[in-house]
Amino acid sequence: MIIVMKVGAPEEEIDRLTEELTSTWNLTPEKIVGRYKTVIGLVGDTADLDILQLQEMSSWIEQVLRVEQPFKRVSREFRHGEASEVVVDTPSGPVPFGEHHPLVTIAGPCSVENEEMIVETAMRVKASGAKFLRGGAFKPRTSPYSFQGHGESALGLLAKAREASGLGIITELMDAADLDALAEVADVIQIGARNMQNFALLKKVGAQDKPILLKRGMSATIEEWLMAAEYLLAAGNAKVILCERGIRTYDRQYTRNTLDLSVIPVLRSLTHLPITIDPSHGTGWADLVPSMAKAAIAAGTDALMIEVHPTPKKALSDGPQSLTPERFDRLMNEELAVIGKAIGRWPSEEPAAVLA
Ligand code: PEP
Ligand code: MN
Repeated sequence: MIIVMKVGAPEEEIDRLTEELTSTWNLTPEKIVGRYKTVIGLVGDTADLDILQLQEMSSWIEQVLRVEQPFKRVSREFRHGEASEVVVDTPSGPVPFGEHHPLVTIAGPCSVENEEMIVETAMRVKASGAKFLRGGAFKPRTSPYSFQGHGESALGLLAKAREASGLGIITELMDAADLDALAEVADVIQIGARNMQNFALLKKVGAQDKPILLKRGMSATIEEWLMAAEYLLAAGNAKVILCERGIRTYDRQYTRNTLDLSVIPVLRSLTHLPITIDPSHGTGWADLVPSMAKAAIAAGTDALMIEVHPTPKKALSDGPQSLTPERFDRLMNEELAVIGKAIGRWPSEEPAAVLA
């Protein structure tokens, strides 16, 4: 349920209402300051609340509305139709994700393999215009015999790449026991597809402060995905970015997953949270990535996550879907820039030319 305040409602009146809702009504109100209006969100047992009685609490109340969706805090209705932004602090300054901001690009290898490759990739993708370096230290692999990631030592290498490049770092957390060590280097904590419904992990990550990139489970419905995001917000962290990475359908021969680009307009209407598209895991093949990245920008994504490896053929994981730094540079500056500029969402500062 939400209480929409009239434009210009005095701060003291909002505080008084919040206090009364807590003490007399036993609710947990959340103040959400939007661009135009302030909304007080109410979650919990609101089914029996009388809308008219709530409305009479103050003449500064414009409307009291029920949120009809099963997801509450993540729903667009909860913010009275306004998009939220997630601002991530990076060594080069704050980077905002959201509907009213330029496209953000995240690039890097599937796994952190060694210092030279991660630092080189960071410098190259930065020169092409990426704002974040991705790279897994802890890898969720289907086979226990596949490369599992270098673990904590790879976090140290990400820290070096962060320092050398000034890029923000996005890396996956698989086990809550690694949270503190990972949060020291990560500017955004990734929850992977396989852990989207690991509710114990979601509660722990939601209870800390770093922004979170929540990937869609490979067989998750949109509602299940948004309910997973709801866990994070319910635990106290509203800095959540959603990431579509392809879902399991029937073709395994020509595509690894089916990239569901229709989620962009669907999510836009259902939630205020920023949207990222990962065409690398979404397709599984490097030559399919550019087309899907272009389509994602045209469809209105807020961010892209693209796997880039200095020598994809030698990659320890996901080589077939990784672009070379040269191909990534061409994609960014010749292909994506055209579409990004046409829809007014290309970052304004010109990225420096990549040194071959
Ligand atoms: C990844 O980003 O490398 C990864 C393992 O992604 P996903 O969880 O989408 O499979
Ligand atoms: Mn990968």
